[in-house]
Amino acid sequence: MEERVERMEILNHILVELSIEKAAAKLHAQRTGDLEQVQRVLDESVPLFAPKAVYTVSYVDEKQEDAVVIDGKHFQSKVLRKNLDEVNRVFPFVITLGPALEGKADTCDDLLEKYYFDVIGNLALLEVRKQVQKEIADRYALGGISAMTPGSLTDWPIEEQKPLFSLLKGVTEAIGVRLNESLLMLPRKSVSGIYFPTETNFYSCQLCPRERCEGRKAAYNRELAEEYGVLK
Ligand code: SF4
Repeated sequence: MEERVERMEILNHILVELSIEKAAAKLHAQRTGDLEQVQRVLDESVPLFAPKAVYTVSYVDEKQEDAVVIDGKHFQSKVLRKNLDEVNRVFPFVITLGPALEGKADTCDDLLEKYYFDVIGNLALLEVRKQVQKEIADRYALGGISAMTPGSLTDWPIEEQKPLFSLLKGVTEAIGVRLNESLLMLPRKSVSGIYFPTETNFYSCQLCPRERCEGRKAAYNRELAEEYGVLK
C-alpha cells in the first residue's frame, strides 16, 4: 500500500467505498426521484475519486506555554499544546481526493447536482481519512488517535499551514496538493493536519460554537472549551 520517500510515507492505493444509503442520508434524499438523482451523481463521482495521502513521523522538541515546536517548526496553539501534553511523537499528514471530482462539480450547471457532487466528495474524503487514520494507528500500535487541522479553530489558524507543509517537504510532487496565496489547499477536497495518540477521542468541533455546520463531527462542549482556555 505504500512506498517510502525519505521520511514521508505515500499512500496512493486507497479504496473508497461509499454506499448510496450513506450518500442519500447525508443529502436527505428520500423520494424516488431524488434517490435516482443521488445514485446517478454517485455513479459519476466514483470513477473520479483519486485518493492519495502522505504522512510522516515527527517529534515534539519543545513544549511552550501556548505553543509547541515539532521537528524544529513552531506551532502556536493552546489546544494543540494541551493535546500534546503527554505526547512526544506525532504524525503530520495531507490527504486528498484529487482534482477530478471538483473539476466535474465546477463545470456542472445544475445547482442541485453541483451540491450533490460537493457533499459526495466530502463523504468520500471522510472515508479516506478513516483509512489513513487506521493505517497509522495499526502501524504504530496506537490505542487511540485523533487529529487537529489548521484553520478549524481560531486558536489554530490557517497560517499554520506553512509550518505544517514544511514538515512534509515534497508533498506537492508526491500527491499533487499545494497551498494557494490564501494558504488554502488545491485540490480543494484535501485535508491536512497532525494526528496524535490519545486515549480520549478529540474533535475540534467540541470546541467550536459554530451553529448549523454540515461538517460537525461532535457536539459543542462548553466545559471542554473552558478547560482548553478557548471559551468565547
Ligand atoms: S463545527 Fe464545523 S466549522 Fe466547527 S470545527 Fe467542526 S466542522 Fe469545523
